[in-house]
Amino acid sequence: MTEDRAAVLAAIAAEVRVCKACRLFEGTTNAVPGAGNPNAEIMFIGEGPGFNEDKKGLPFVGRSGDYLEKLLKIINLQREQVFIANVVKHRPPENRDPLPDEMAACKPFLDRQIAVINPLVIVTLGRFSMARYFPNGKITQIHGQPKYDDDRAYYPLFHPAAVLRNPNLEPQMEADFKRLLEVITEVKSRRAKAAPPEKKTEPPPSGPPKQLSLF
Ligand code: URA
Repeated sequence: MTEDRAAVLAAIAAEVRVCKACRLFEGTTNAVPGAGNPNAEIMFIGEGPGFNEDKKGLPFVGRSGDYLEKLLKIINLQREQVFIANVVKHRPPENRDPLPDEMAACKPFLDRQIAVINPLVIVTLGRFSMARYFPNGKITQIHGQPKYDDDRAYYPLFHPAAVLRNPNLEPQMEADFKRLLEVITEVKSRRAKAAPPEKKTEPPPSGPPKQLSLF
């Protein structure tokens, strides 16, 4: 199962690397398909690769990535345990906002990654991934408030870069992060309740098996 998921994710990543469905591939060094554990319970979705991500082909490896790792550590997780992706998979020039047609071109890749990983929680980082699940949401109002739907939770958080720019947001970001563990527990309990009850099987007869009489 793990191998199947990893193979499907690798196939998606290979498609992303040669994708020319929008203009964003022009002038980039590497595509950044996403990275992490194929069986992750938590999937983070950011905005798009920046300078460092473009150089390495990996998501969140600059200052925002360092901060994300620090937040993960607070709840005893490492980046290898989660999956991290972005709304667009090539770096927008000068880190400008991704355009609607660019996000639309990239959407099938992200949708397929989510379908394969089937995470318990999708954490949105920043307004573009938030808009996928909270179309009219304002991050200052809805951060840290999970929405339970489709057997999973959607959990909007501030973008790490926004917190780095405005350290006043740090305590709130840490509190939201800590709540992530509760959100996971809640989804697990909802999934368990929704699962059909296990079929009862007849208990095996007790005592030694009867020897068939030869006479
Ligand atoms: N910011 C993002 O939204 N994504 C990255 O991968 C890096 C920084």
